[in-house]
Amino acid sequence: MGKTVLIVEDEKAIVEILKFNLQREGYSVLEALDGEAGLELAQAEDPDLILLDVMLPRMNGFDVCRTLREGGCAIPIIMLTAREEESDKVFGLEAGADDYITKPFSMRELLARVKANIRRRSLDAAQPAQPGSQLLKVGDVAVDPVSMTVTKGGAPVDVTQKEFDLLVRLFSAPGKVCTREELLEKVWNYAYFGDTRTVDVAVRRLREKIEDDPGNPKIILTRRGAGYYCGE
Ligand code: CA
Repeated sequence: MGKTVLIVEDEKAIVEILKFNLQREGYSVLEALDGEAGLELAQAEDPDLILLDVMLPRMNGFDVCRTLREGGCAIPIIMLTAREEESDKVFGLEAGADDYITKPFSMRELLARVKANIRRRSLDAAQPAQPGSQLLKVGDVAVDPVSMTVTKGGAPVDVTQKEFDLLVRLFSAPGKVCTREELLEKVWNYAYFGDTRTVDVAVRRLREKIEDDPGNPKIILTRRGAGYYCGE
């Protein structure tokens, strides 16, 4: 079945060019011209991916993203940021976006990212439950790769798909340091486009969810100049 992409963007010219190119690649396209309409369409139609502009009438892209994530939505979200401003990228990732792309963007790069983010999610969904697979545990945090759930001290923790993948990757080899580049490739599924800041922001968000004291982490540790690893 074809995949559906929701475009939330108030500039009609951008919507049209995105729509043309996505449809040519075989995607179905939904469009919303403001943040509130985008939020409603995302909730009603459950698209496979959302391209979300930041500056939108009625509700900005960060708020749309945050609202969706708070509601438990795990749809991959790529933020379209207008400026080459670091703060916009970081805000987007902190709001729960999986990825961002800066305008003006190359259509080829955008299509590659759309494909990578959708493929990543489909692979995860298609992963069969493995009999006998083990609960991964570090401290009081447990990750269940079969039911795809995370708990801390027995209480469920809401994580995004990328955060879950990141935890599985780190918890699968306690003590082993993973470089940011390696995590970007394995978890975000692309080697060239990514900015390793993406990994740092995701780790920071995860720490806020699973560490007793995010400023003094015991579960996900930093090896300076090398990368991240988890405690044993
Ligand atoms: Ca806009």
